[in-house]
Amino acid sequence: RAKEQGKNKYNVFHTGMNMQTYRSFIMQNDLRKAIENEELELYYQPRINLQNQQVLGAEALIRWNHPNWGIVRPNEFIPLAEETGQIIPIGEWVLRSVCEQICSWENTELSPIRIAVNFSAKQFLQVDLIERIQQILDETQVNPQLLEIEITESVLLKNEELTLKTLQLLRKMGISISIDDFGTGYSSLHYLSHLPLNSLKIDQSFVQGITENERKNKSIITSIISLAKSLNLSVIAEGVETTEQLHFLASQNCDEIQGYLCSPPVPALQFIEAIQNNAFVPMISERKHTAVT
Ligand code: C2E
Ligand code: MG
Ligand code: MG
Ligand code: MG
Repeated sequence: RAKEQGKNKYNVFHTGMNMQTYRSFIMQNDLRKAIENEELELYYQPRINLQNQQVLGAEALIRWNHPNWGIVRPNEFIPLAEETGQIIPIGEWVLRSVCEQICSWENTELSPIRIAVNFSAKQFLQVDLIERIQQILDETQVNPQLLEIEITESVLLKNEELTLKTLQLLRKMGISISIDDFGTGYSSLHYLSHLPLNSLKIDQSFVQGITENERKNKSIITSIISLAKSLNLSVIAEGVETTEQLHFLASQNCDEIQGYLCSPPVPALQFIEAIQNNAFVPMISERKHTAVT
């Protein structure tokens, strides 16, 4: 009888769930142990300033080295972590690790590089956010000028008053704020103009739309850049993959670019080696050069 029940359970488990649900189920469970098992890792993707072609910043992007599945990308496990609340300890791990990384890089001869950290909605809207961030700043003694927080437009619209207060406090602490995936949400220009922001990151869907003679995406990009300038914000294009995209962005006076054209996100060690060897930048100058001749 027990055997039968066991068998039934087994059947329900396997027939009632498709592969994706099964994977999510296992993941939610495994994610709880990911931090203590040291399975989480941060990759870094450089941001290149188009004026001087220098790497002045980078974005930290989380990876999960799952023992059975290998590298799991955040689009798969961050939404699960938001559902279960695991995003809170994971988010703290990310912030603390980035602060420690900034400190370790600060003592080298490298020029200071500002690192951007992604905050998801649930994480950004936790009640004691400021206290938790302050605690990590105190513990790590990081220079907050080298820290940037990326939030999406959807976060801005969740609780406008609280968000404004939080952003003001973060800025007082010396942390920079950028709006990620900009152009995909619905924030009003009026509202944006009242927020203490530093930069807008043009969503990669517009950037990738630059290929061919696509006029719509080009004019969206042009408007976002002129909006950013009029609000005194810097503007970064995400997901830049081709020289065609690069040239258009440069012609529109976009401040910085980020994308596979310069480098994919890479582990910390590889990132710092590439910086030291100046490996991110020649790619651009080389291609710019070819395009000019
Ligand atoms: P995002 O913040 O918009 O990050 C940009 C994503 O585009 C990254 O995907 C990056 O690897 C990818 N990307 C960069 N350049 C190119 C390119 O030239 N072409 C293409 N096709 N893609 C490019 P990734 O690393 O898989 O991250 C996906 C999303 O997961 C991020 O989007 C962010 O929303 C979230 N995420 C990543 N790390 C964290 C984290 O530490 N905490 C939280 N809460 N969310 C994170
Ligand atoms: Mg981001
Ligand atoms: Mg983005
Ligand atoms: Mg995104």
